[in-house]
Order: sequence, then structure tokens, then C-alpha cells
Amino acid sequence: MIKARRLFGTNGIRGVANRDLTPEFATKVGSSVGTFFGGGKILVGRDGRTSGPMLVRAVIAGLLSAGCDVYDVGVAPTPAIQYAVKHYHMKGGVIITASHNPPEYNGIKVVADDGVEIPRELEVEIEGILFNERFYRATWDGVKGVNELSGALDVYVEAVKQHVNVDAIRRKGFHVVVDPGNGVAGLAIPRLLQEMGCRVTTINAEIDGTFPKRPPEPTLENLRGLALVVKAVKADVGVAYDGDADRAIFVDERGEAHWGDKTFALIEKQFLMENPGEVIVTPISSSSLIKDVAEEFGGKVVWTKVGSIIVSHVMKRLSAKLGGEENGGIFYGPHQFVRDGAMATALILNVMAKTGRKLSELLDELPSYYIEKDKLACPDELKELVLDELMKRVEGVSMDTIDGVRLWLQDESSILIRPSGTEPIYRLYAEGRTKERAAQLVVKYKEVLRSIINKLLTSVERSLANS
Ligand code: MG
Repeated sequence: MIKARRLFGTNGIRGVANRDLTPEFATKVGSSVGTFFGGGKILVGRDGRTSGPMLVRAVIAGLLSAGCDVYDVGVAPTPAIQYAVKHYHMKGGVIITASHNPPEYNGIKVVADDGVEIPRELEVEIEGILFNERFYRATWDGVKGVNELSGALDVYVEAVKQHVNVDAIRRKGFHVVVDPGNGVAGLAIPRLLQEMGCRVTTINAEIDGTFPKRPPEPTLENLRGLALVVKAVKADVGVAYDGDADRAIFVDERGEAHWGDKTFALIEKQFLMENPGEVIVTPISSSSLIKDVAEEFGGKVVWTKVGSIIVSHVMKRLSAKLGGEENGGIFYGPHQFVRDGAMATALILNVMAKTGRKLSELLDELPSYYIEKDKLACPDELKELVLDELMKRVEGVSMDTIDGVRLWLQDESSILIRPSGTEPIYRLYAEGRTKERAAQLVVKYKEVLRSIINKLLTSVERSLANS
């Protein structure tokens, strides 16, 4: 059982199946969510994890006990489930998924009537219901049923196609290698691509909750297999997804994999050429590329704290049409305010079709940055004090302080210095136009951080010794 007073993390409730996430606990979550929504039509769906059938039934039992009318879409990509909540006018939804986490994990995500994850203050309400066991129990004749919803994937694939030039893509007849990594992307992506006239080669396509072929996180290191296949079959592009298919990472025709903010910058460029003046929403951890493209093509970047739910909520508030993350999350507002791997794929093919250029050529045209990362241990209790002191020491430098501090330096280099939300460390992430510059920045600011932390530790020790 999860004992903490807080259940929801940065992306729903996550834990190891049958250790943290038992069926008894999942039923209580279902009861709490059903009580929170006050009954009504609630949609449920899940990814392909081994513990999914167990947990989804437990959640459904809880929802039913609270008088909800449950609609079950079964196994589907997270963004398809989110889209279905909106499309079928549900009161809300519950998704059983642990996204990119290792196979032993699972999770419970709660979404509002527009498919977007509920904000923190509503999670607190659900936590309050659960911890105080204030479950609403329907009378025996008020218990509703479970309705199977079979058309959600068709509706979703159709919706994605509405936002790109399908004819232009079809004329190109792209050959695309798809790597769902044994996750649920295989249910929607090959179909979407075939319907847009692409030739599709799949690897790791069978859904398998043990993720036997590669970890469910599409990091560049995990995509070597995809890169080899793209080159071997001479495909135009390869694309890999995380376990629940809301993130997409692309491999160009040379077999080179690219971080999500580079492909996001391509989508951004095309989008701003067609929609000048629009706002682009992205976490402060994204590459300066996003800012460069916005400046060149007449857009405005709104930086957010790190986290996909935050990007979704900021986009909703601003009615922004485009958002993205370095991890491969693309948010296309006219479709839905959540990251969506199928939408990302369609948008990249749209750029390739409209420009008539190879993916590698398009990426090579973007300004190039070198990235250096590092980290430094820092006790959680000192993190805020360290940040205050750091800001004093860098006074006068152009900066953003939405999440940690990002310093924008004279020579187009920048550094983000940010306390980790989950570990007792500070992370440093530098970008420079040369490798040396990025490395130099990391060394310099790690030293600044170290001296601040040491000074604070010494003063804490001194005050303890005196007390
Ligand atoms: Mg995911």
C-alpha cells in the first residue's frame, strides 16, 4: 500500500504493481475518483502492461461502486484514450499506464472532460476522499454497468489526419520504420501511416508488457536497433515511441536519432511560417533552438516549469496551438492539449512532404548546439537557499527563473541550473555553439554551486555546534 499522504506524482499515481499498486488500493482510487466526479460517464483504458487487466478491473469496480457509468476502450495509446474522453463527451477518464517506466511499474492517471490531466488542486480533493475514506456508495439499484467502446481508435486516427496535408504526404509515399518498443503505439501508428499512403516497416510491434526488446523509454541509446533498420531498408524516417505512445523520437534516413526538441523545432518552424505571431509553449529544459526558431519566424516562446501536465495547462490557459518537450512530447492544441505520439509523427511527415526535403537536411539547417550535462549532490533542505544565493551571484545576467535558473549568455550559450524534484541533487544543463563552450559553462557553474553549498553546509554545522 502507498502510505504517503500524497498519492499523485508529477504524472499521476505510479508504483510497482502488486507492491504499491494492489487491486485493493486501485479499487479505493476508483471509488475516490468516482466520488470526486459524482457519478456520470467515465471512460477507462490502459496500456499493454502485464498488470493492466488486474488494475483496470479493480479501478472499474471502485468507479461502479460510486455510481459511475463506465465506458471501457480497452488497450490503446494514452493520447487516443484522452481524445476519446473529449470526443464521446465523458465526464472524465481514468488511464492505467506507467508510460516509459520499467515493466514492473504501473500507474493511474485521471483526466478531465477534455482529456487533459486534472490539475494538482483536484488531485488533492481525490487524495482527501481516499485518505478519509469518504467514498460515495451507490445503492444496489444505482450501480450502473460497463460499456465496451470499440471505435475509439478509428476516431483517433481520423482526428490526427485532420490536422495535416494527407494528400501531400500521400504523394511522397514515405517509407517509415515504426518502433513501438512493444508498447501500444503499434495499435494506431502503422494504421495512421498506411492511411496516409506510407510504406510501413515495423519492429518490436507486438504488445508485450515485459518489454523484451528494448526499455519502454525511447532514449537515443535505446534506438540503435531502429537506426540500423532504417539504414538497412533505406527508409525515409524511423520513429520510436514510449510505452504508452504519447512521445515520439525520430531517426533520420542516415540512421541518426535526434532528441525531441530538435524535431519539435522543425514542427515549430513550419507552424510559425504558416501561423506567424503564435505562442510556443515549452519547458525551460528545452533547447535554445526553440527560442531561435521563434525569433526568426515571428513566434513567442512561453517557458514553463518542467512537466508535461504543466505544458498542457499553460497551453489551455493561453489557447496556445503548439507545445513540445525535449523528450519527444509534442502538443498540438487544435487536436488536443496533451502530448501525442501519432500527432507528432503526422506533423513531422507533414513538414517533410511540404518542404520536399530529407529529414537530415531539415535538421542540419537548424542552428547547432552542443550540450553538456552534469549534476551535484545537494541536500533537499538546502535547495531553496542555494537557489537564492545563486541568483544573487549571477545578478545582471539575463535569466529565466520559472524552474531553477536559466542563464542566457552573450554568445548564444545558456545554462539551466535546476534542483531535481525527486533526488537530492542539482542538475546542470549547458548549451553552447561549441563543445568547449558548453563544457566550460558546466565546469564554471558547478564550481559556483559547490561553493554555495559548502558555505551553507558550514554555516549550518556552525549553528548546530553553537546550539
Ligand atoms: Mg508516455
